Amino acid sequence: MTGNYMDMFSLKGKTALVTGANTGLGQGICLAYAQAGANVVGVARRSCRETAEKIEAVSGHFTEVIADLSDLSVIPRIAAEANAAYGRVDILVNNAGIIKRCDAVDVTIEDWDSVIEVNQRMVFFLCQAFAKGWIQDNKGGKIINIASMLSFQGGIRVPSYAASKSAVMGLTRALANEWSKYNINVNAIAPGYMATNNTANLRSDEQREEEILSRIPAGRWGTPEDIAGAAIFLASEASSYINGFTLAVDGGWLAR
Ligand code: NAP
Repeated sequence: MTGNYMDMFSLKGKTALVTGANTGLGQGICLAYAQAGANVVGVARRSCRETAEKIEAVSGHFTEVIADLSDLSVIPRIAAEANAAYGRVDILVNNAGIIKRCDAVDVTIEDWDSVIEVNQRMVFFLCQAFAKGWIQDNKGGKIINIASMLSFQGGIRVPSYAASKSAVMGLTRALANEWSKYNINVNAIAPGYMATNNTANLRSDEQREEEILSRIPAGRWGTPEDIAGAAIFLASEASSYINGFTLAVDGGWLAR
C-alpha cells in the first residue's frame, strides 16, 4: 500500500447494489456508500424516493430498481438494470429481509416459506448471479450479507427468522470457501437491536423494549448510521483479506 491509508476505505469508481434500499439499514448503507464515493443501485419493492433525496443532498449517484424479492425470477432483470445504470456492479449487499413473530407451534407453511424465500433463497441466488460474472471477468467483488443476532442465538417467537439468519451466516462461510480465490470477499454484518421497521413491534411492547434495552451494554438501540462504518469497511480494499466473517455491530449484545 502506497499513499494515504485512508484511501483504502474509498469506494470511488465502484458501483454498489443494495437490496431493501427504501428504508432502515438498507437506506443507511446506500447513503454511506454514496458518501464514500460509490454509485448506488437500490433495489426495493416500492419507491426509494427518500433514499434518492438523501443521496442527492450529498451529490451522490443513485438509481432504483423496483423488484419484489420474494420471487427469484427477478434476478436477471435486477442485474440487467444495474449494469445498464453504471456498468459493472462491484459490491452486492443483501440487506432486504422480513421477520414474522409467532409461537413455533402456530407457524404456517406459507409464513415459513415467505421468510425463507426473501432472507435465505434470494440471498444465495443473488450471490450466485453476481459471483458468476465476477469469476468470468476475473476482477473480484465484495458481498456483504446482512445477518442478525439470531445467526448466533435462537431468539423468541421468530423460528423462521432465526433459521434464515443462521443460514445467512453459514452461507457466508460456505461461499467464502469457494470464491475467496477469485478475489471475491464474502462477509456478513450482524446488526444488534436497531431502531427500524423490523423492530417496530418489539419497541412498541413496553416490557420487551425495556428487557432488550437493559441488556445492551451500549445502553441504546442502534441506528442505520451505526452500520455505515462496517458496511464501508467490508466493501472496501481495507478488508481484502477478510473472508467468510460475520461482524457484529451490536452495542456489545453478544459480549454479554
Ligand atoms: P426494515 O426497515 O423492515 O427493512 C427491510 C427492508 O427489506 C425494507 O426495505 C423492505 O421493504 C425490504 N423487503 C422486505 N421484503 C421485501 C421483498 N419481498 N422485496 C423487496 N424488498 C423487501 O428493517 P431493517 O432493520 O432495516 O432490516 C434490514 C436488514 O437488517 C434485514 O435483513 C433485517 O433482518 C436485518 N436486521 C435488522 C435488525 C434490526 O434490529 N433492525 C437486526 C438484525 C438484522 P419494505 O419497506 O417495502 O417492506
